Amino acid sequence: MRVCFDTLCFSSRPHAADEEASPGLGTTTLNVLIDHQVTSEMGSVVQELQALLQVKEEKIRELQTLLHIRDEEIEDLRSHLDKFQSVFPFHFNAVTPKHKGLNNNIGGVRPRKQRAGISAEPQSEASLQELSRQTFPIHDKAERSRELIKAAILDNDFMKNLELAQIREIVDCMFPEAYKAQSIIIKEGDVGSIVYVLEEGRVEVSRENKYLSTLTPGKVLGELAILYNCKRTATIKAATDCKLWAIERQCFQTIMMRTGLIRQAEYTDFLKSVPIFKDLSEDTLIKISDVLEETFYSFGDYIIRQGARGDTFFIISKGRVKVTIKQLNSSEEKYIRTLTKGDFFGEKALQGDDLRTANIICDDPEGVSCLVIDRETFNQLISNLDEIKSKYKDEGDERKRENEEFESVRLSDLRVISTLGVGGFGRVELVQIQSDPTRAFALKQMKKAQIVETRQQQHIMSEKEIMGEANCNFIVKLYRTFKDRKYLYMLMESCLGGELWTVLRDKGHFDDPTTRFYTACVVEAFDYLHSRNIIYRDLKPENLLLDNNGYVKLVDFGFAKRLQTGRKTWTFCGTPEYVAPEVILNKGHDISADYWSLGVLMFELLTGTPPFAGADPMKTYNIILKGIDAIEFPRNITRNAQALIKKLCRDNPAERLGYQKGGISEIQKHKWFDGFNWEGLRNRTLIPPIIPQVKHVIDTSNFDKYPPDSDSHPPDDLSGWDANF
Ligand code: AMP
Repeated sequence: MRVCFDTLCFSSRPHAADEEASPGLGTTTLNVLIDHQVTSEMGSVVQELQALLQVKEEKIRELQTLLHIRDEEIEDLRSHLDKFQSVFPFHFNAVTPKHKGLNNNIGGVRPRKQRAGISAEPQSEASLQELSRQTFPIHDKAERSRELIKAAILDNDFMKNLELAQIREIVDCMFPEAYKAQSIIIKEGDVGSIVYVLEEGRVEVSRENKYLSTLTPGKVLGELAILYNCKRTATIKAATDCKLWAIERQCFQTIMMRTGLIRQAEYTDFLKSVPIFKDLSEDTLIKISDVLEETFYSFGDYIIRQGARGDTFFIISKGRVKVTIKQLNSSEEKYIRTLTKGDFFGEKALQGDDLRTANIICDDPEGVSCLVIDRETFNQLISNLDEIKSKYKDEGDERKRENEEFESVRLSDLRVISTLGVGGFGRVELVQIQSDPTRAFALKQMKKAQIVETRQQQHIMSEKEIMGEANCNFIVKLYRTFKDRKYLYMLMESCLGGELWTVLRDKGHFDDPTTRFYTACVVEAFDYLHSRNIIYRDLKPENLLLDNNGYVKLVDFGFAKRLQTGRKTWTFCGTPEYVAPEVILNKGHDISADYWSLGVLMFELLTGTPPFAGADPMKTYNIILKGIDAIEFPRNITRNAQALIKKLCRDNPAERLGYQKGGISEIQKHKWFDGFNWEGLRNRTLIPPIIPQVKHVIDTSNFDKYPPDSDSHPPDDLSGWDANF
């Protein structure tokens, strides 16, 4: 390139020697001649240049093709490697169905690894009374230590999101620990459940024996363990004698759960005393209590001013206000009465009457706290939810009849064809009933000892119950279960189109219509589950299987759970990139967490990358806590798709589309779905965007190949917890 540039510079200037060589010619003629000569000289140089450029361009194209082939090879090898690695046995106290090891994708790079689902051991669904009885010892500490712990928590990206009351309780419960210089506080690879705050001394952080950093007092250490049992990702060694404060996950989670439940009970009690709410169901009252916002007013503040327009309703949660009205022909205000905790005002605004008829003034030197809701939020929530739910008749009997056909099948009647996939507790095999070569099934086998080790017994029982009863075209059917000394087995319908994850990996990303089709399949599955108050909790492309026609079905119900009406659940469950903020913050979650993950799925299908992705789970969680508005949307996400994703990924669960009045139909009616043939999807006449090639009932070509299980003799488990499996 440099040569070309030099040539161009040289020939663009007339030569001084040329001018001297033609003394008898007039200046104009001379100039014309020179111009002519220069032009033709330049012409040939340009031609030369063009030829050179062409050669270079060809070379670049060649290299690009080579690079592309290499990239594809690497991608392919990586995928195989991931799958193979996942087949090896592991001992990890958090359940990670699918593939072990944590996700390595760094923001902006398409995750190449299938991602692991993570679950803490299920929290007991204790009632508020039980939780209130559960006490943890309070450890006295100097005011200076309290301040240091509080400051450390507020300085930590994850823990700073806790409420001050929660932080106070955590500070109370932290117990002292001392470590001598050179001793190990946290060891890489160990399973941890304690979180520390360093008060005195210095600690060194290292990974794989490589020094990373030195930390000084006022830092939180090992905070991932607060969410679920996890392997420590680094070693922390005391560089000097150290003093630390520590808290166990169990204690932390009880505090979080208790605060949430106390608040919910208190708010719903407030709401019950308001006449306009008296006919609302407990379920709706809980939803309203979730969107109430606490607002603080100082002494003398006008909370409402007579004559002004307003659309907010208030309940006093702390302090005192006075009600006054203007006197006719006077600037004086007449005192009417005082309102205190539990009293409310402005309720007419919720019904559409927005002219305020009195002043409400904070009359408490300490200030007043009010719970506030506005008309729009209120109207979004109120509707006859029961009506929506009753549109489903119970089809349990139909499923029972379908399952009856398999009652006589014995485990020994099944012939294994090949492995379809590997889950957290074992393999999923393609099998046939010996006597019937016309059909094939998927047999999921799970190692009992491993289920016990990871304390997932309850989740497995719930998986069996929900999948065994689900009668929905968008959910994989479970026909029957078996068990022996080592394994539990689930005989399911087989979906031979492969995982949506694999299709997405190969295509990079999907266009709008393709994404719409798959999202719609999930919406149908969620409609089915949510109307029965079942939360799924592990949405991701890895858990969506294509059937032979290209329709998508939800599989792996290891984290699904039936909730009691109006109740939340607290166990940390899901896959880091897909978990909702309230799950991370231990606030209690319900079906609205699935709508969050639906928004994440849309984003990932459209771009090939989930919106919230960090180098490790804790980084991912911190990105999630910053919210969807902090995420830049690539240009290929249309405005309508973007609008829907943002409505699904609202920080406040009660504000998510699908969770409000109208339920999931609000998603189906969203403009991104305008013109979508829902009826065609339900009766399966709609042509799917990608039709997988499945040549016969045992064609597994859409699945990766797996080596034999290296842990084919897991220990027996005869403890009997699986009596009802
Ligand atoms: P699971 O343990 O349920 O997550 O299953 C692990 C993997 O096995 C899935 O990701 C699929 O690749 C495969 N698999 C599970 N169930 C089926 C099924 N019903 N049909 C075909 N493949 C399946």
